[in-house]
Amino acid sequence: MPNPDQDLQAPCAAGAFPLTGAWLDALIQHAPVGIAVIDLSGKYLSVNPAYCELYGYRAAEMLGNSFLMVFAPEQREPVLQRHQRFLSKGSELKGEWDVVNRDGKLLRVLSESVAVRGADGQMSRLVYVLDITARSRAEHAKEESRRQVLSVMDALTAHICVLDEQGVIIKVNRAWREFAAANGGSAELCGEGKNYLDFCRQPLAFADAGALEFADKLTEVLAGRLQSFQVEYPCHSVQGPRWFLARVSRTQDVEPPRIVVAHDSVTELKLVQEALRRQEAELRDLAASVPGALFRLLVRPSGKIEFVYFSPGVRDLFGLSPEKACGDGRALLRCMAREYREACEASLRRAVASGQAWEQEVEVWVPEAGAGPKCLQIKATPKLTGPGECVLTGVLTDVSARKQAETALKASTESFRIFFETMPQGVVYHAASGQITAANPAACALLRLSLDQMLGKTPFDPGWRAIREDGSDFPAEQHPAMEALRTGQPVRQVVMGLCLPEGSLIWLQVNATPLFKQGLLTEAYTSFEDITELIRTRQELHRQASTDHLTGAANRRHFMERLQAEYGRIQRRPELCSCVVTLDLDHFKKINDGFGHAAGDAVLRHVTLLMRLGTRPLDVVGRLGGEEFALLLPDTSCEDAQVLAERLRLRIEQNPVQYRQTIIPVTVSIGISAILSSDANAELALSRSDQAMYAIKEHGRNGVSIA
Ligand code: GH3
Ligand code: MG
Ligand code: MG
Repeated sequence: MPNPDQDLQAPCAAGAFPLTGAWLDALIQHAPVGIAVIDLSGKYLSVNPAYCELYGYRAAEMLGNSFLMVFAPEQREPVLQRHQRFLSKGSELKGEWDVVNRDGKLLRVLSESVAVRGADGQMSRLVYVLDITARSRAEHAKEESRRQVLSVMDALTAHICVLDEQGVIIKVNRAWREFAAANGGSAELCGEGKNYLDFCRQPLAFADAGALEFADKLTEVLAGRLQSFQVEYPCHSVQGPRWFLARVSRTQDVEPPRIVVAHDSVTELKLVQEALRRQEAELRDLAASVPGALFRLLVRPSGKIEFVYFSPGVRDLFGLSPEKACGDGRALLRCMAREYREACEASLRRAVASGQAWEQEVEVWVPEAGAGPKCLQIKATPKLTGPGECVLTGVLTDVSARKQAETALKASTESFRIFFETMPQGVVYHAASGQITAANPAACALLRLSLDQMLGKTPFDPGWRAIREDGSDFPAEQHPAMEALRTGQPVRQVVMGLCLPEGSLIWLQVNATPLFKQGLLTEAYTSFEDITELIRTRQELHRQASTDHLTGAANRRHFMERLQAEYGRIQRRPELCSCVVTLDLDHFKKINDGFGHAAGDAVLRHVTLLMRLGTRPLDVVGRLGGEEFALLLPDTSCEDAQVLAERLRLRIEQNPVQYRQTIIPVTVSIGISAILSSDANAELALSRSDQAMYAIKEHGRNGVSIA
């Protein structure tokens, strides 16, 4: 056995030992740790098998190469500098390193170095290296998991603390610290290092009630007699009510044992539960006050039907308590006639199969719930709750009253329809816009239009032309239907002349009634009947009453009426000028005497015709009596009246009457007067024109004079 002391000299300045002796080589070769000798430039002078194995190289690959090969490129420069400083200045070179083996795998090694002097006197570094990768990983993992636990704890919203068996707080999470800070329990009272049991036993620790009981139970857990417990406690703040759930549990399989205390806010849960309770109560009230009965029905995969809920209203419908109705679904079906039962079951199956709402009306006969059959409406929504299983939630409503009303309405609608179709009066409905929306056959017949031609038309349609009894235009906006739609008032007995498409004129008496729906004027109902005959007779009577039957001119009464009306107009509008003309046949007595009375009549008709031809349609030709005529000339000046009269006089003179084989010459004397607004009455103008006419008579007749 070589004596190491023989070869080892006293350390040199850099602490170097001479590297000599075969025993040292043997030691290095068989050492269980990796050993290498590296010269100043960094070259391996020697590597042992353990070293080679550590890095995965063969000795030949390492010897003569730089030891920096086992370092990551970025580490090489500083590592070389430390290596050289160690050899030249003897500075410290010991510790843990990250190195890379041949496969590129990262290793953690612990190394220690000794400076050695070679046979050539050069200083080299002997380094022995221990692979601590596994240990380092384990430590790293432990640290990592500790940090993870802490960060998970900090991320939790529950307030958590970890106690030792004495109740001393070892660790608290962020939520704990923040809650303590915000609620007066500062770190001095319940922070890390304090005894939590002491904190719990002080008055009003975290809950007025139950704090001591909590402390007692906690003591049990600390002592290991109780594994865990939890309590819920209120802890209201000024912001509002709060509840917490405290859970305490003792860790298992951990030495020394730890006790974890977690306070978790259950305020929201509490509030939701409270709201749910309230909602349920409200729903119960609602269900009890809903007309009819709410129900829930379960259809099993086997097809079996079970009522699982009925609101109290079921008692009114079936005379059964909700419990009884749920228990005996058959009892409900027994109240229905077979066809209703079958229809009901069929529509229920359809709803379940399609997922569509279940709607059905059935008639039920419930002797217990009062007399007479009832009509019930079922409405429910199906919801699949499992394969082939379906829950339907809905309402049963007694619609008997509505049904009766519907039946009555149907009957009345039908009788109205018959009435509408067969009534002799025309009836037309106008929408608010004035458009015709309906018309009965009588209306179509009266107006000589098909229903298609009528629908959609309004009184403004250019195809309609309406007139009033006096012949003036009947504006569409004054049509009774439009009037009723505009004013909301009925319009009664309006006489309207309608020029039909084929050119004839019919007279209608029209009534229009506005119709309201929920206070809103929506349409007008217009009825009308044909009064053409009546109007024609009336017009004929009027014509007869106002016409001189011999000449066809206006009779005295009618002429005076028209004169009176014109006088009224002049009084209202004095700036206007109208004239009245008096015309008397000269020596008419002689004509009668000479040619006979019939010839005299012919002369009278002849003169009337010439007067008609010489005047405008709006002028009035009147026969005031015997052979005395008058003209009413509205909007005519005295000068224009004079021109007209002179022309008329001349025309009469130049157109003698041919009566049978005889020519009868005729002349006339004419007087003219303006109708003055200052006159006391209408007759004054006529008497002035009379005087003017008599003046002509006195001056030899056959002339014209202005008053
Ligand atoms: P003067 O030029 O002054 O007016 O003379 P005159 O003869 O026309 O006037 P007078 O008043 O003396 O005569 C009117 C005559 O008219 C008297 C009457 O017999 C006649 N007469 C009145 N009514 C009718 C009638 O309806 N038919 C006919 N043929 N003659 C009538
Ligand atoms: Mg005369
Ligand atoms: Mg006369």
